[in-house]
Amino acid sequence: MRVNGRSKKEVLAELRRIREEDVKYEDGRVLCSMCTTPHPIAKIAHRMFLSSNLGDPGLFPGSSRLEKEAVRNLGTLLNCQDATGFIVSGGTEANLLAMLAARDTSKIAKPEVIIPESAHFSFNKICNLLNLKPIRAGCDSRFRVDPDEVKRCITRNTVAIVGTAGTAELGVVDPIKALSEIALAHGIFFHVDAALGGLMIPFLENASEHDFEFDFRFKGVSSITVDPHKMGMSTIPAGGILFRDCRCLEAIKTNTPYLTDDAQYTFVGTRSGAPVAATWAVFELLGREGFAEVVSRCMELTRFLSEGIELLDLELVTKPTLNVLAFRSARSKLLAERLRKRGWFVSYVPRLDCVRIVVMPHLKRRHAETFLRDLGEIAGHRIA
Ligand code: PLP
Repeated sequence: MRVNGRSKKEVLAELRRIREEDVKYEDGRVLCSMCTTPHPIAKIAHRMFLSSNLGDPGLFPGSSRLEKEAVRNLGTLLNCQDATGFIVSGGTEANLLAMLAARDTSKIAKPEVIIPESAHFSFNKICNLLNLKPIRAGCDSRFRVDPDEVKRCITRNTVAIVGTAGTAELGVVDPIKALSEIALAHGIFFHVDAALGGLMIPFLENASEHDFEFDFRFKGVSSITVDPHKMGMSTIPAGGILFRDCRCLEAIKTNTPYLTDDAQYTFVGTRSGAPVAATWAVFELLGREGFAEVVSRCMELTRFLSEGIELLDLELVTKPTLNVLAFRSARSKLLAERLRKRGWFVSYVPRLDCVRIVVMPHLKRRHAETFLRDLGEIAGHRIA
C-alpha cells in the first residue's frame, strides 16, 4: 500500500482505465458466460444496500426480510411456497449447502453421492470438501443422465442423488421426474441443480411437452439450486438454495455466539445484502410476465443462431433445450481459437470436442448476425 494517498480524481481515472481491460456484456461479444448485464433496477437496488451484512441479520432486518421474500418468490415459482432457504454467493455455495444437508441428515459413515457425468464441476470441489465419494452416472444419447444407471449406482452408502435442470455444457435437463421417483422409492435425498434453468424453465411454454419439468412438484425433490445472478439478471453474487423440509436447516447450522442472531446457515459469514436487494427488485419489477418475455427473446435468438449454424454445415451436438448451443467442425478447437481472434468469447468444451455459446439477455439480433457472418467466413474458408 502507498504511504500517501492519491486524489479522488486520480484514483477514479485509473479505475476507469483499468475497467477498459474488462469485457462489457453490452458489446455483444461475450457468448460464453451465464452472467449478464444486471437489470437497471438491480444496479440501483444494489447501490442502496451496499453496507448491508446478512451475516449479522439483527442489524439489517429490512435486508433480511428482502431475503425471505426473494426465497418465497423462488419457492412459489418452483411449486413449494413454504420452501426454506437463502440467497448465497452462487450455484457452488448453493450446491455445497445441499450436499452438506444430505450428508449430515443421513448419518452414514462413508457417504457417497450419485452425480451425472454431465453435472457442473462445482460438485468436484464439494465432494473434496465434504469428503463425499462421487459415483458418476452416465448419460443417454441426448446427454441426459440415464435413470437406470442412477439406480445401478445406489448402495447403502448413498446419501444423495443429483440431477441438473440446464447443464452448464449443453443446457439439457435431466429426467427429473424419473430421478425423483427413484429417490422416493429408496428414501434418498435428491438435489436438483437448476442454477441455470431455474429461472428459465418455468417460463417456457413447452416445458411439460418436452419433459423439462424439474421442480418441487415432484415429491422426491429435496432441494433446488437456482441462481438469480444468471438469468435472474441480478448483481453478482446471488445464488439461491431452497429446501423442501426446514429440518435440513439443522444440518447446515453453525452457532454464532456474539452476533445479533444466534446461528448462521450459509458457508459465507459476512455476506452482502446488496445482491439480495437486487434480486428482490428484479422479481418485483418484471414479475412472471416480464421474465417470460426475457426468456422468450433469448430462446428466439438461440433458435436463430442454431438455424444459422446448421446452414453453415456445422454439426449441432444436440438440438438446444435452453439457451446453450454447442456445435462442431472437423477442428472445433481451432474454430474456437479463430473466433476468439476475431473478438468473440466462446467456450471450447474438450469433453465433447465442441464450441459452446450461451445466449444471455445482453445479446441482440445484430450481434448474432455479425457472429454468424464471422463464423461462416472462418468455418467456410479455413476450418471445415
Ligand atoms: N451449476 C450449474 C448448472 C452451473 O451452470 C453453474 C455455473 O455456471 C454452477 C452450478 C456454479 O455456479 P456459480 O459459478 O454461481 O458458483
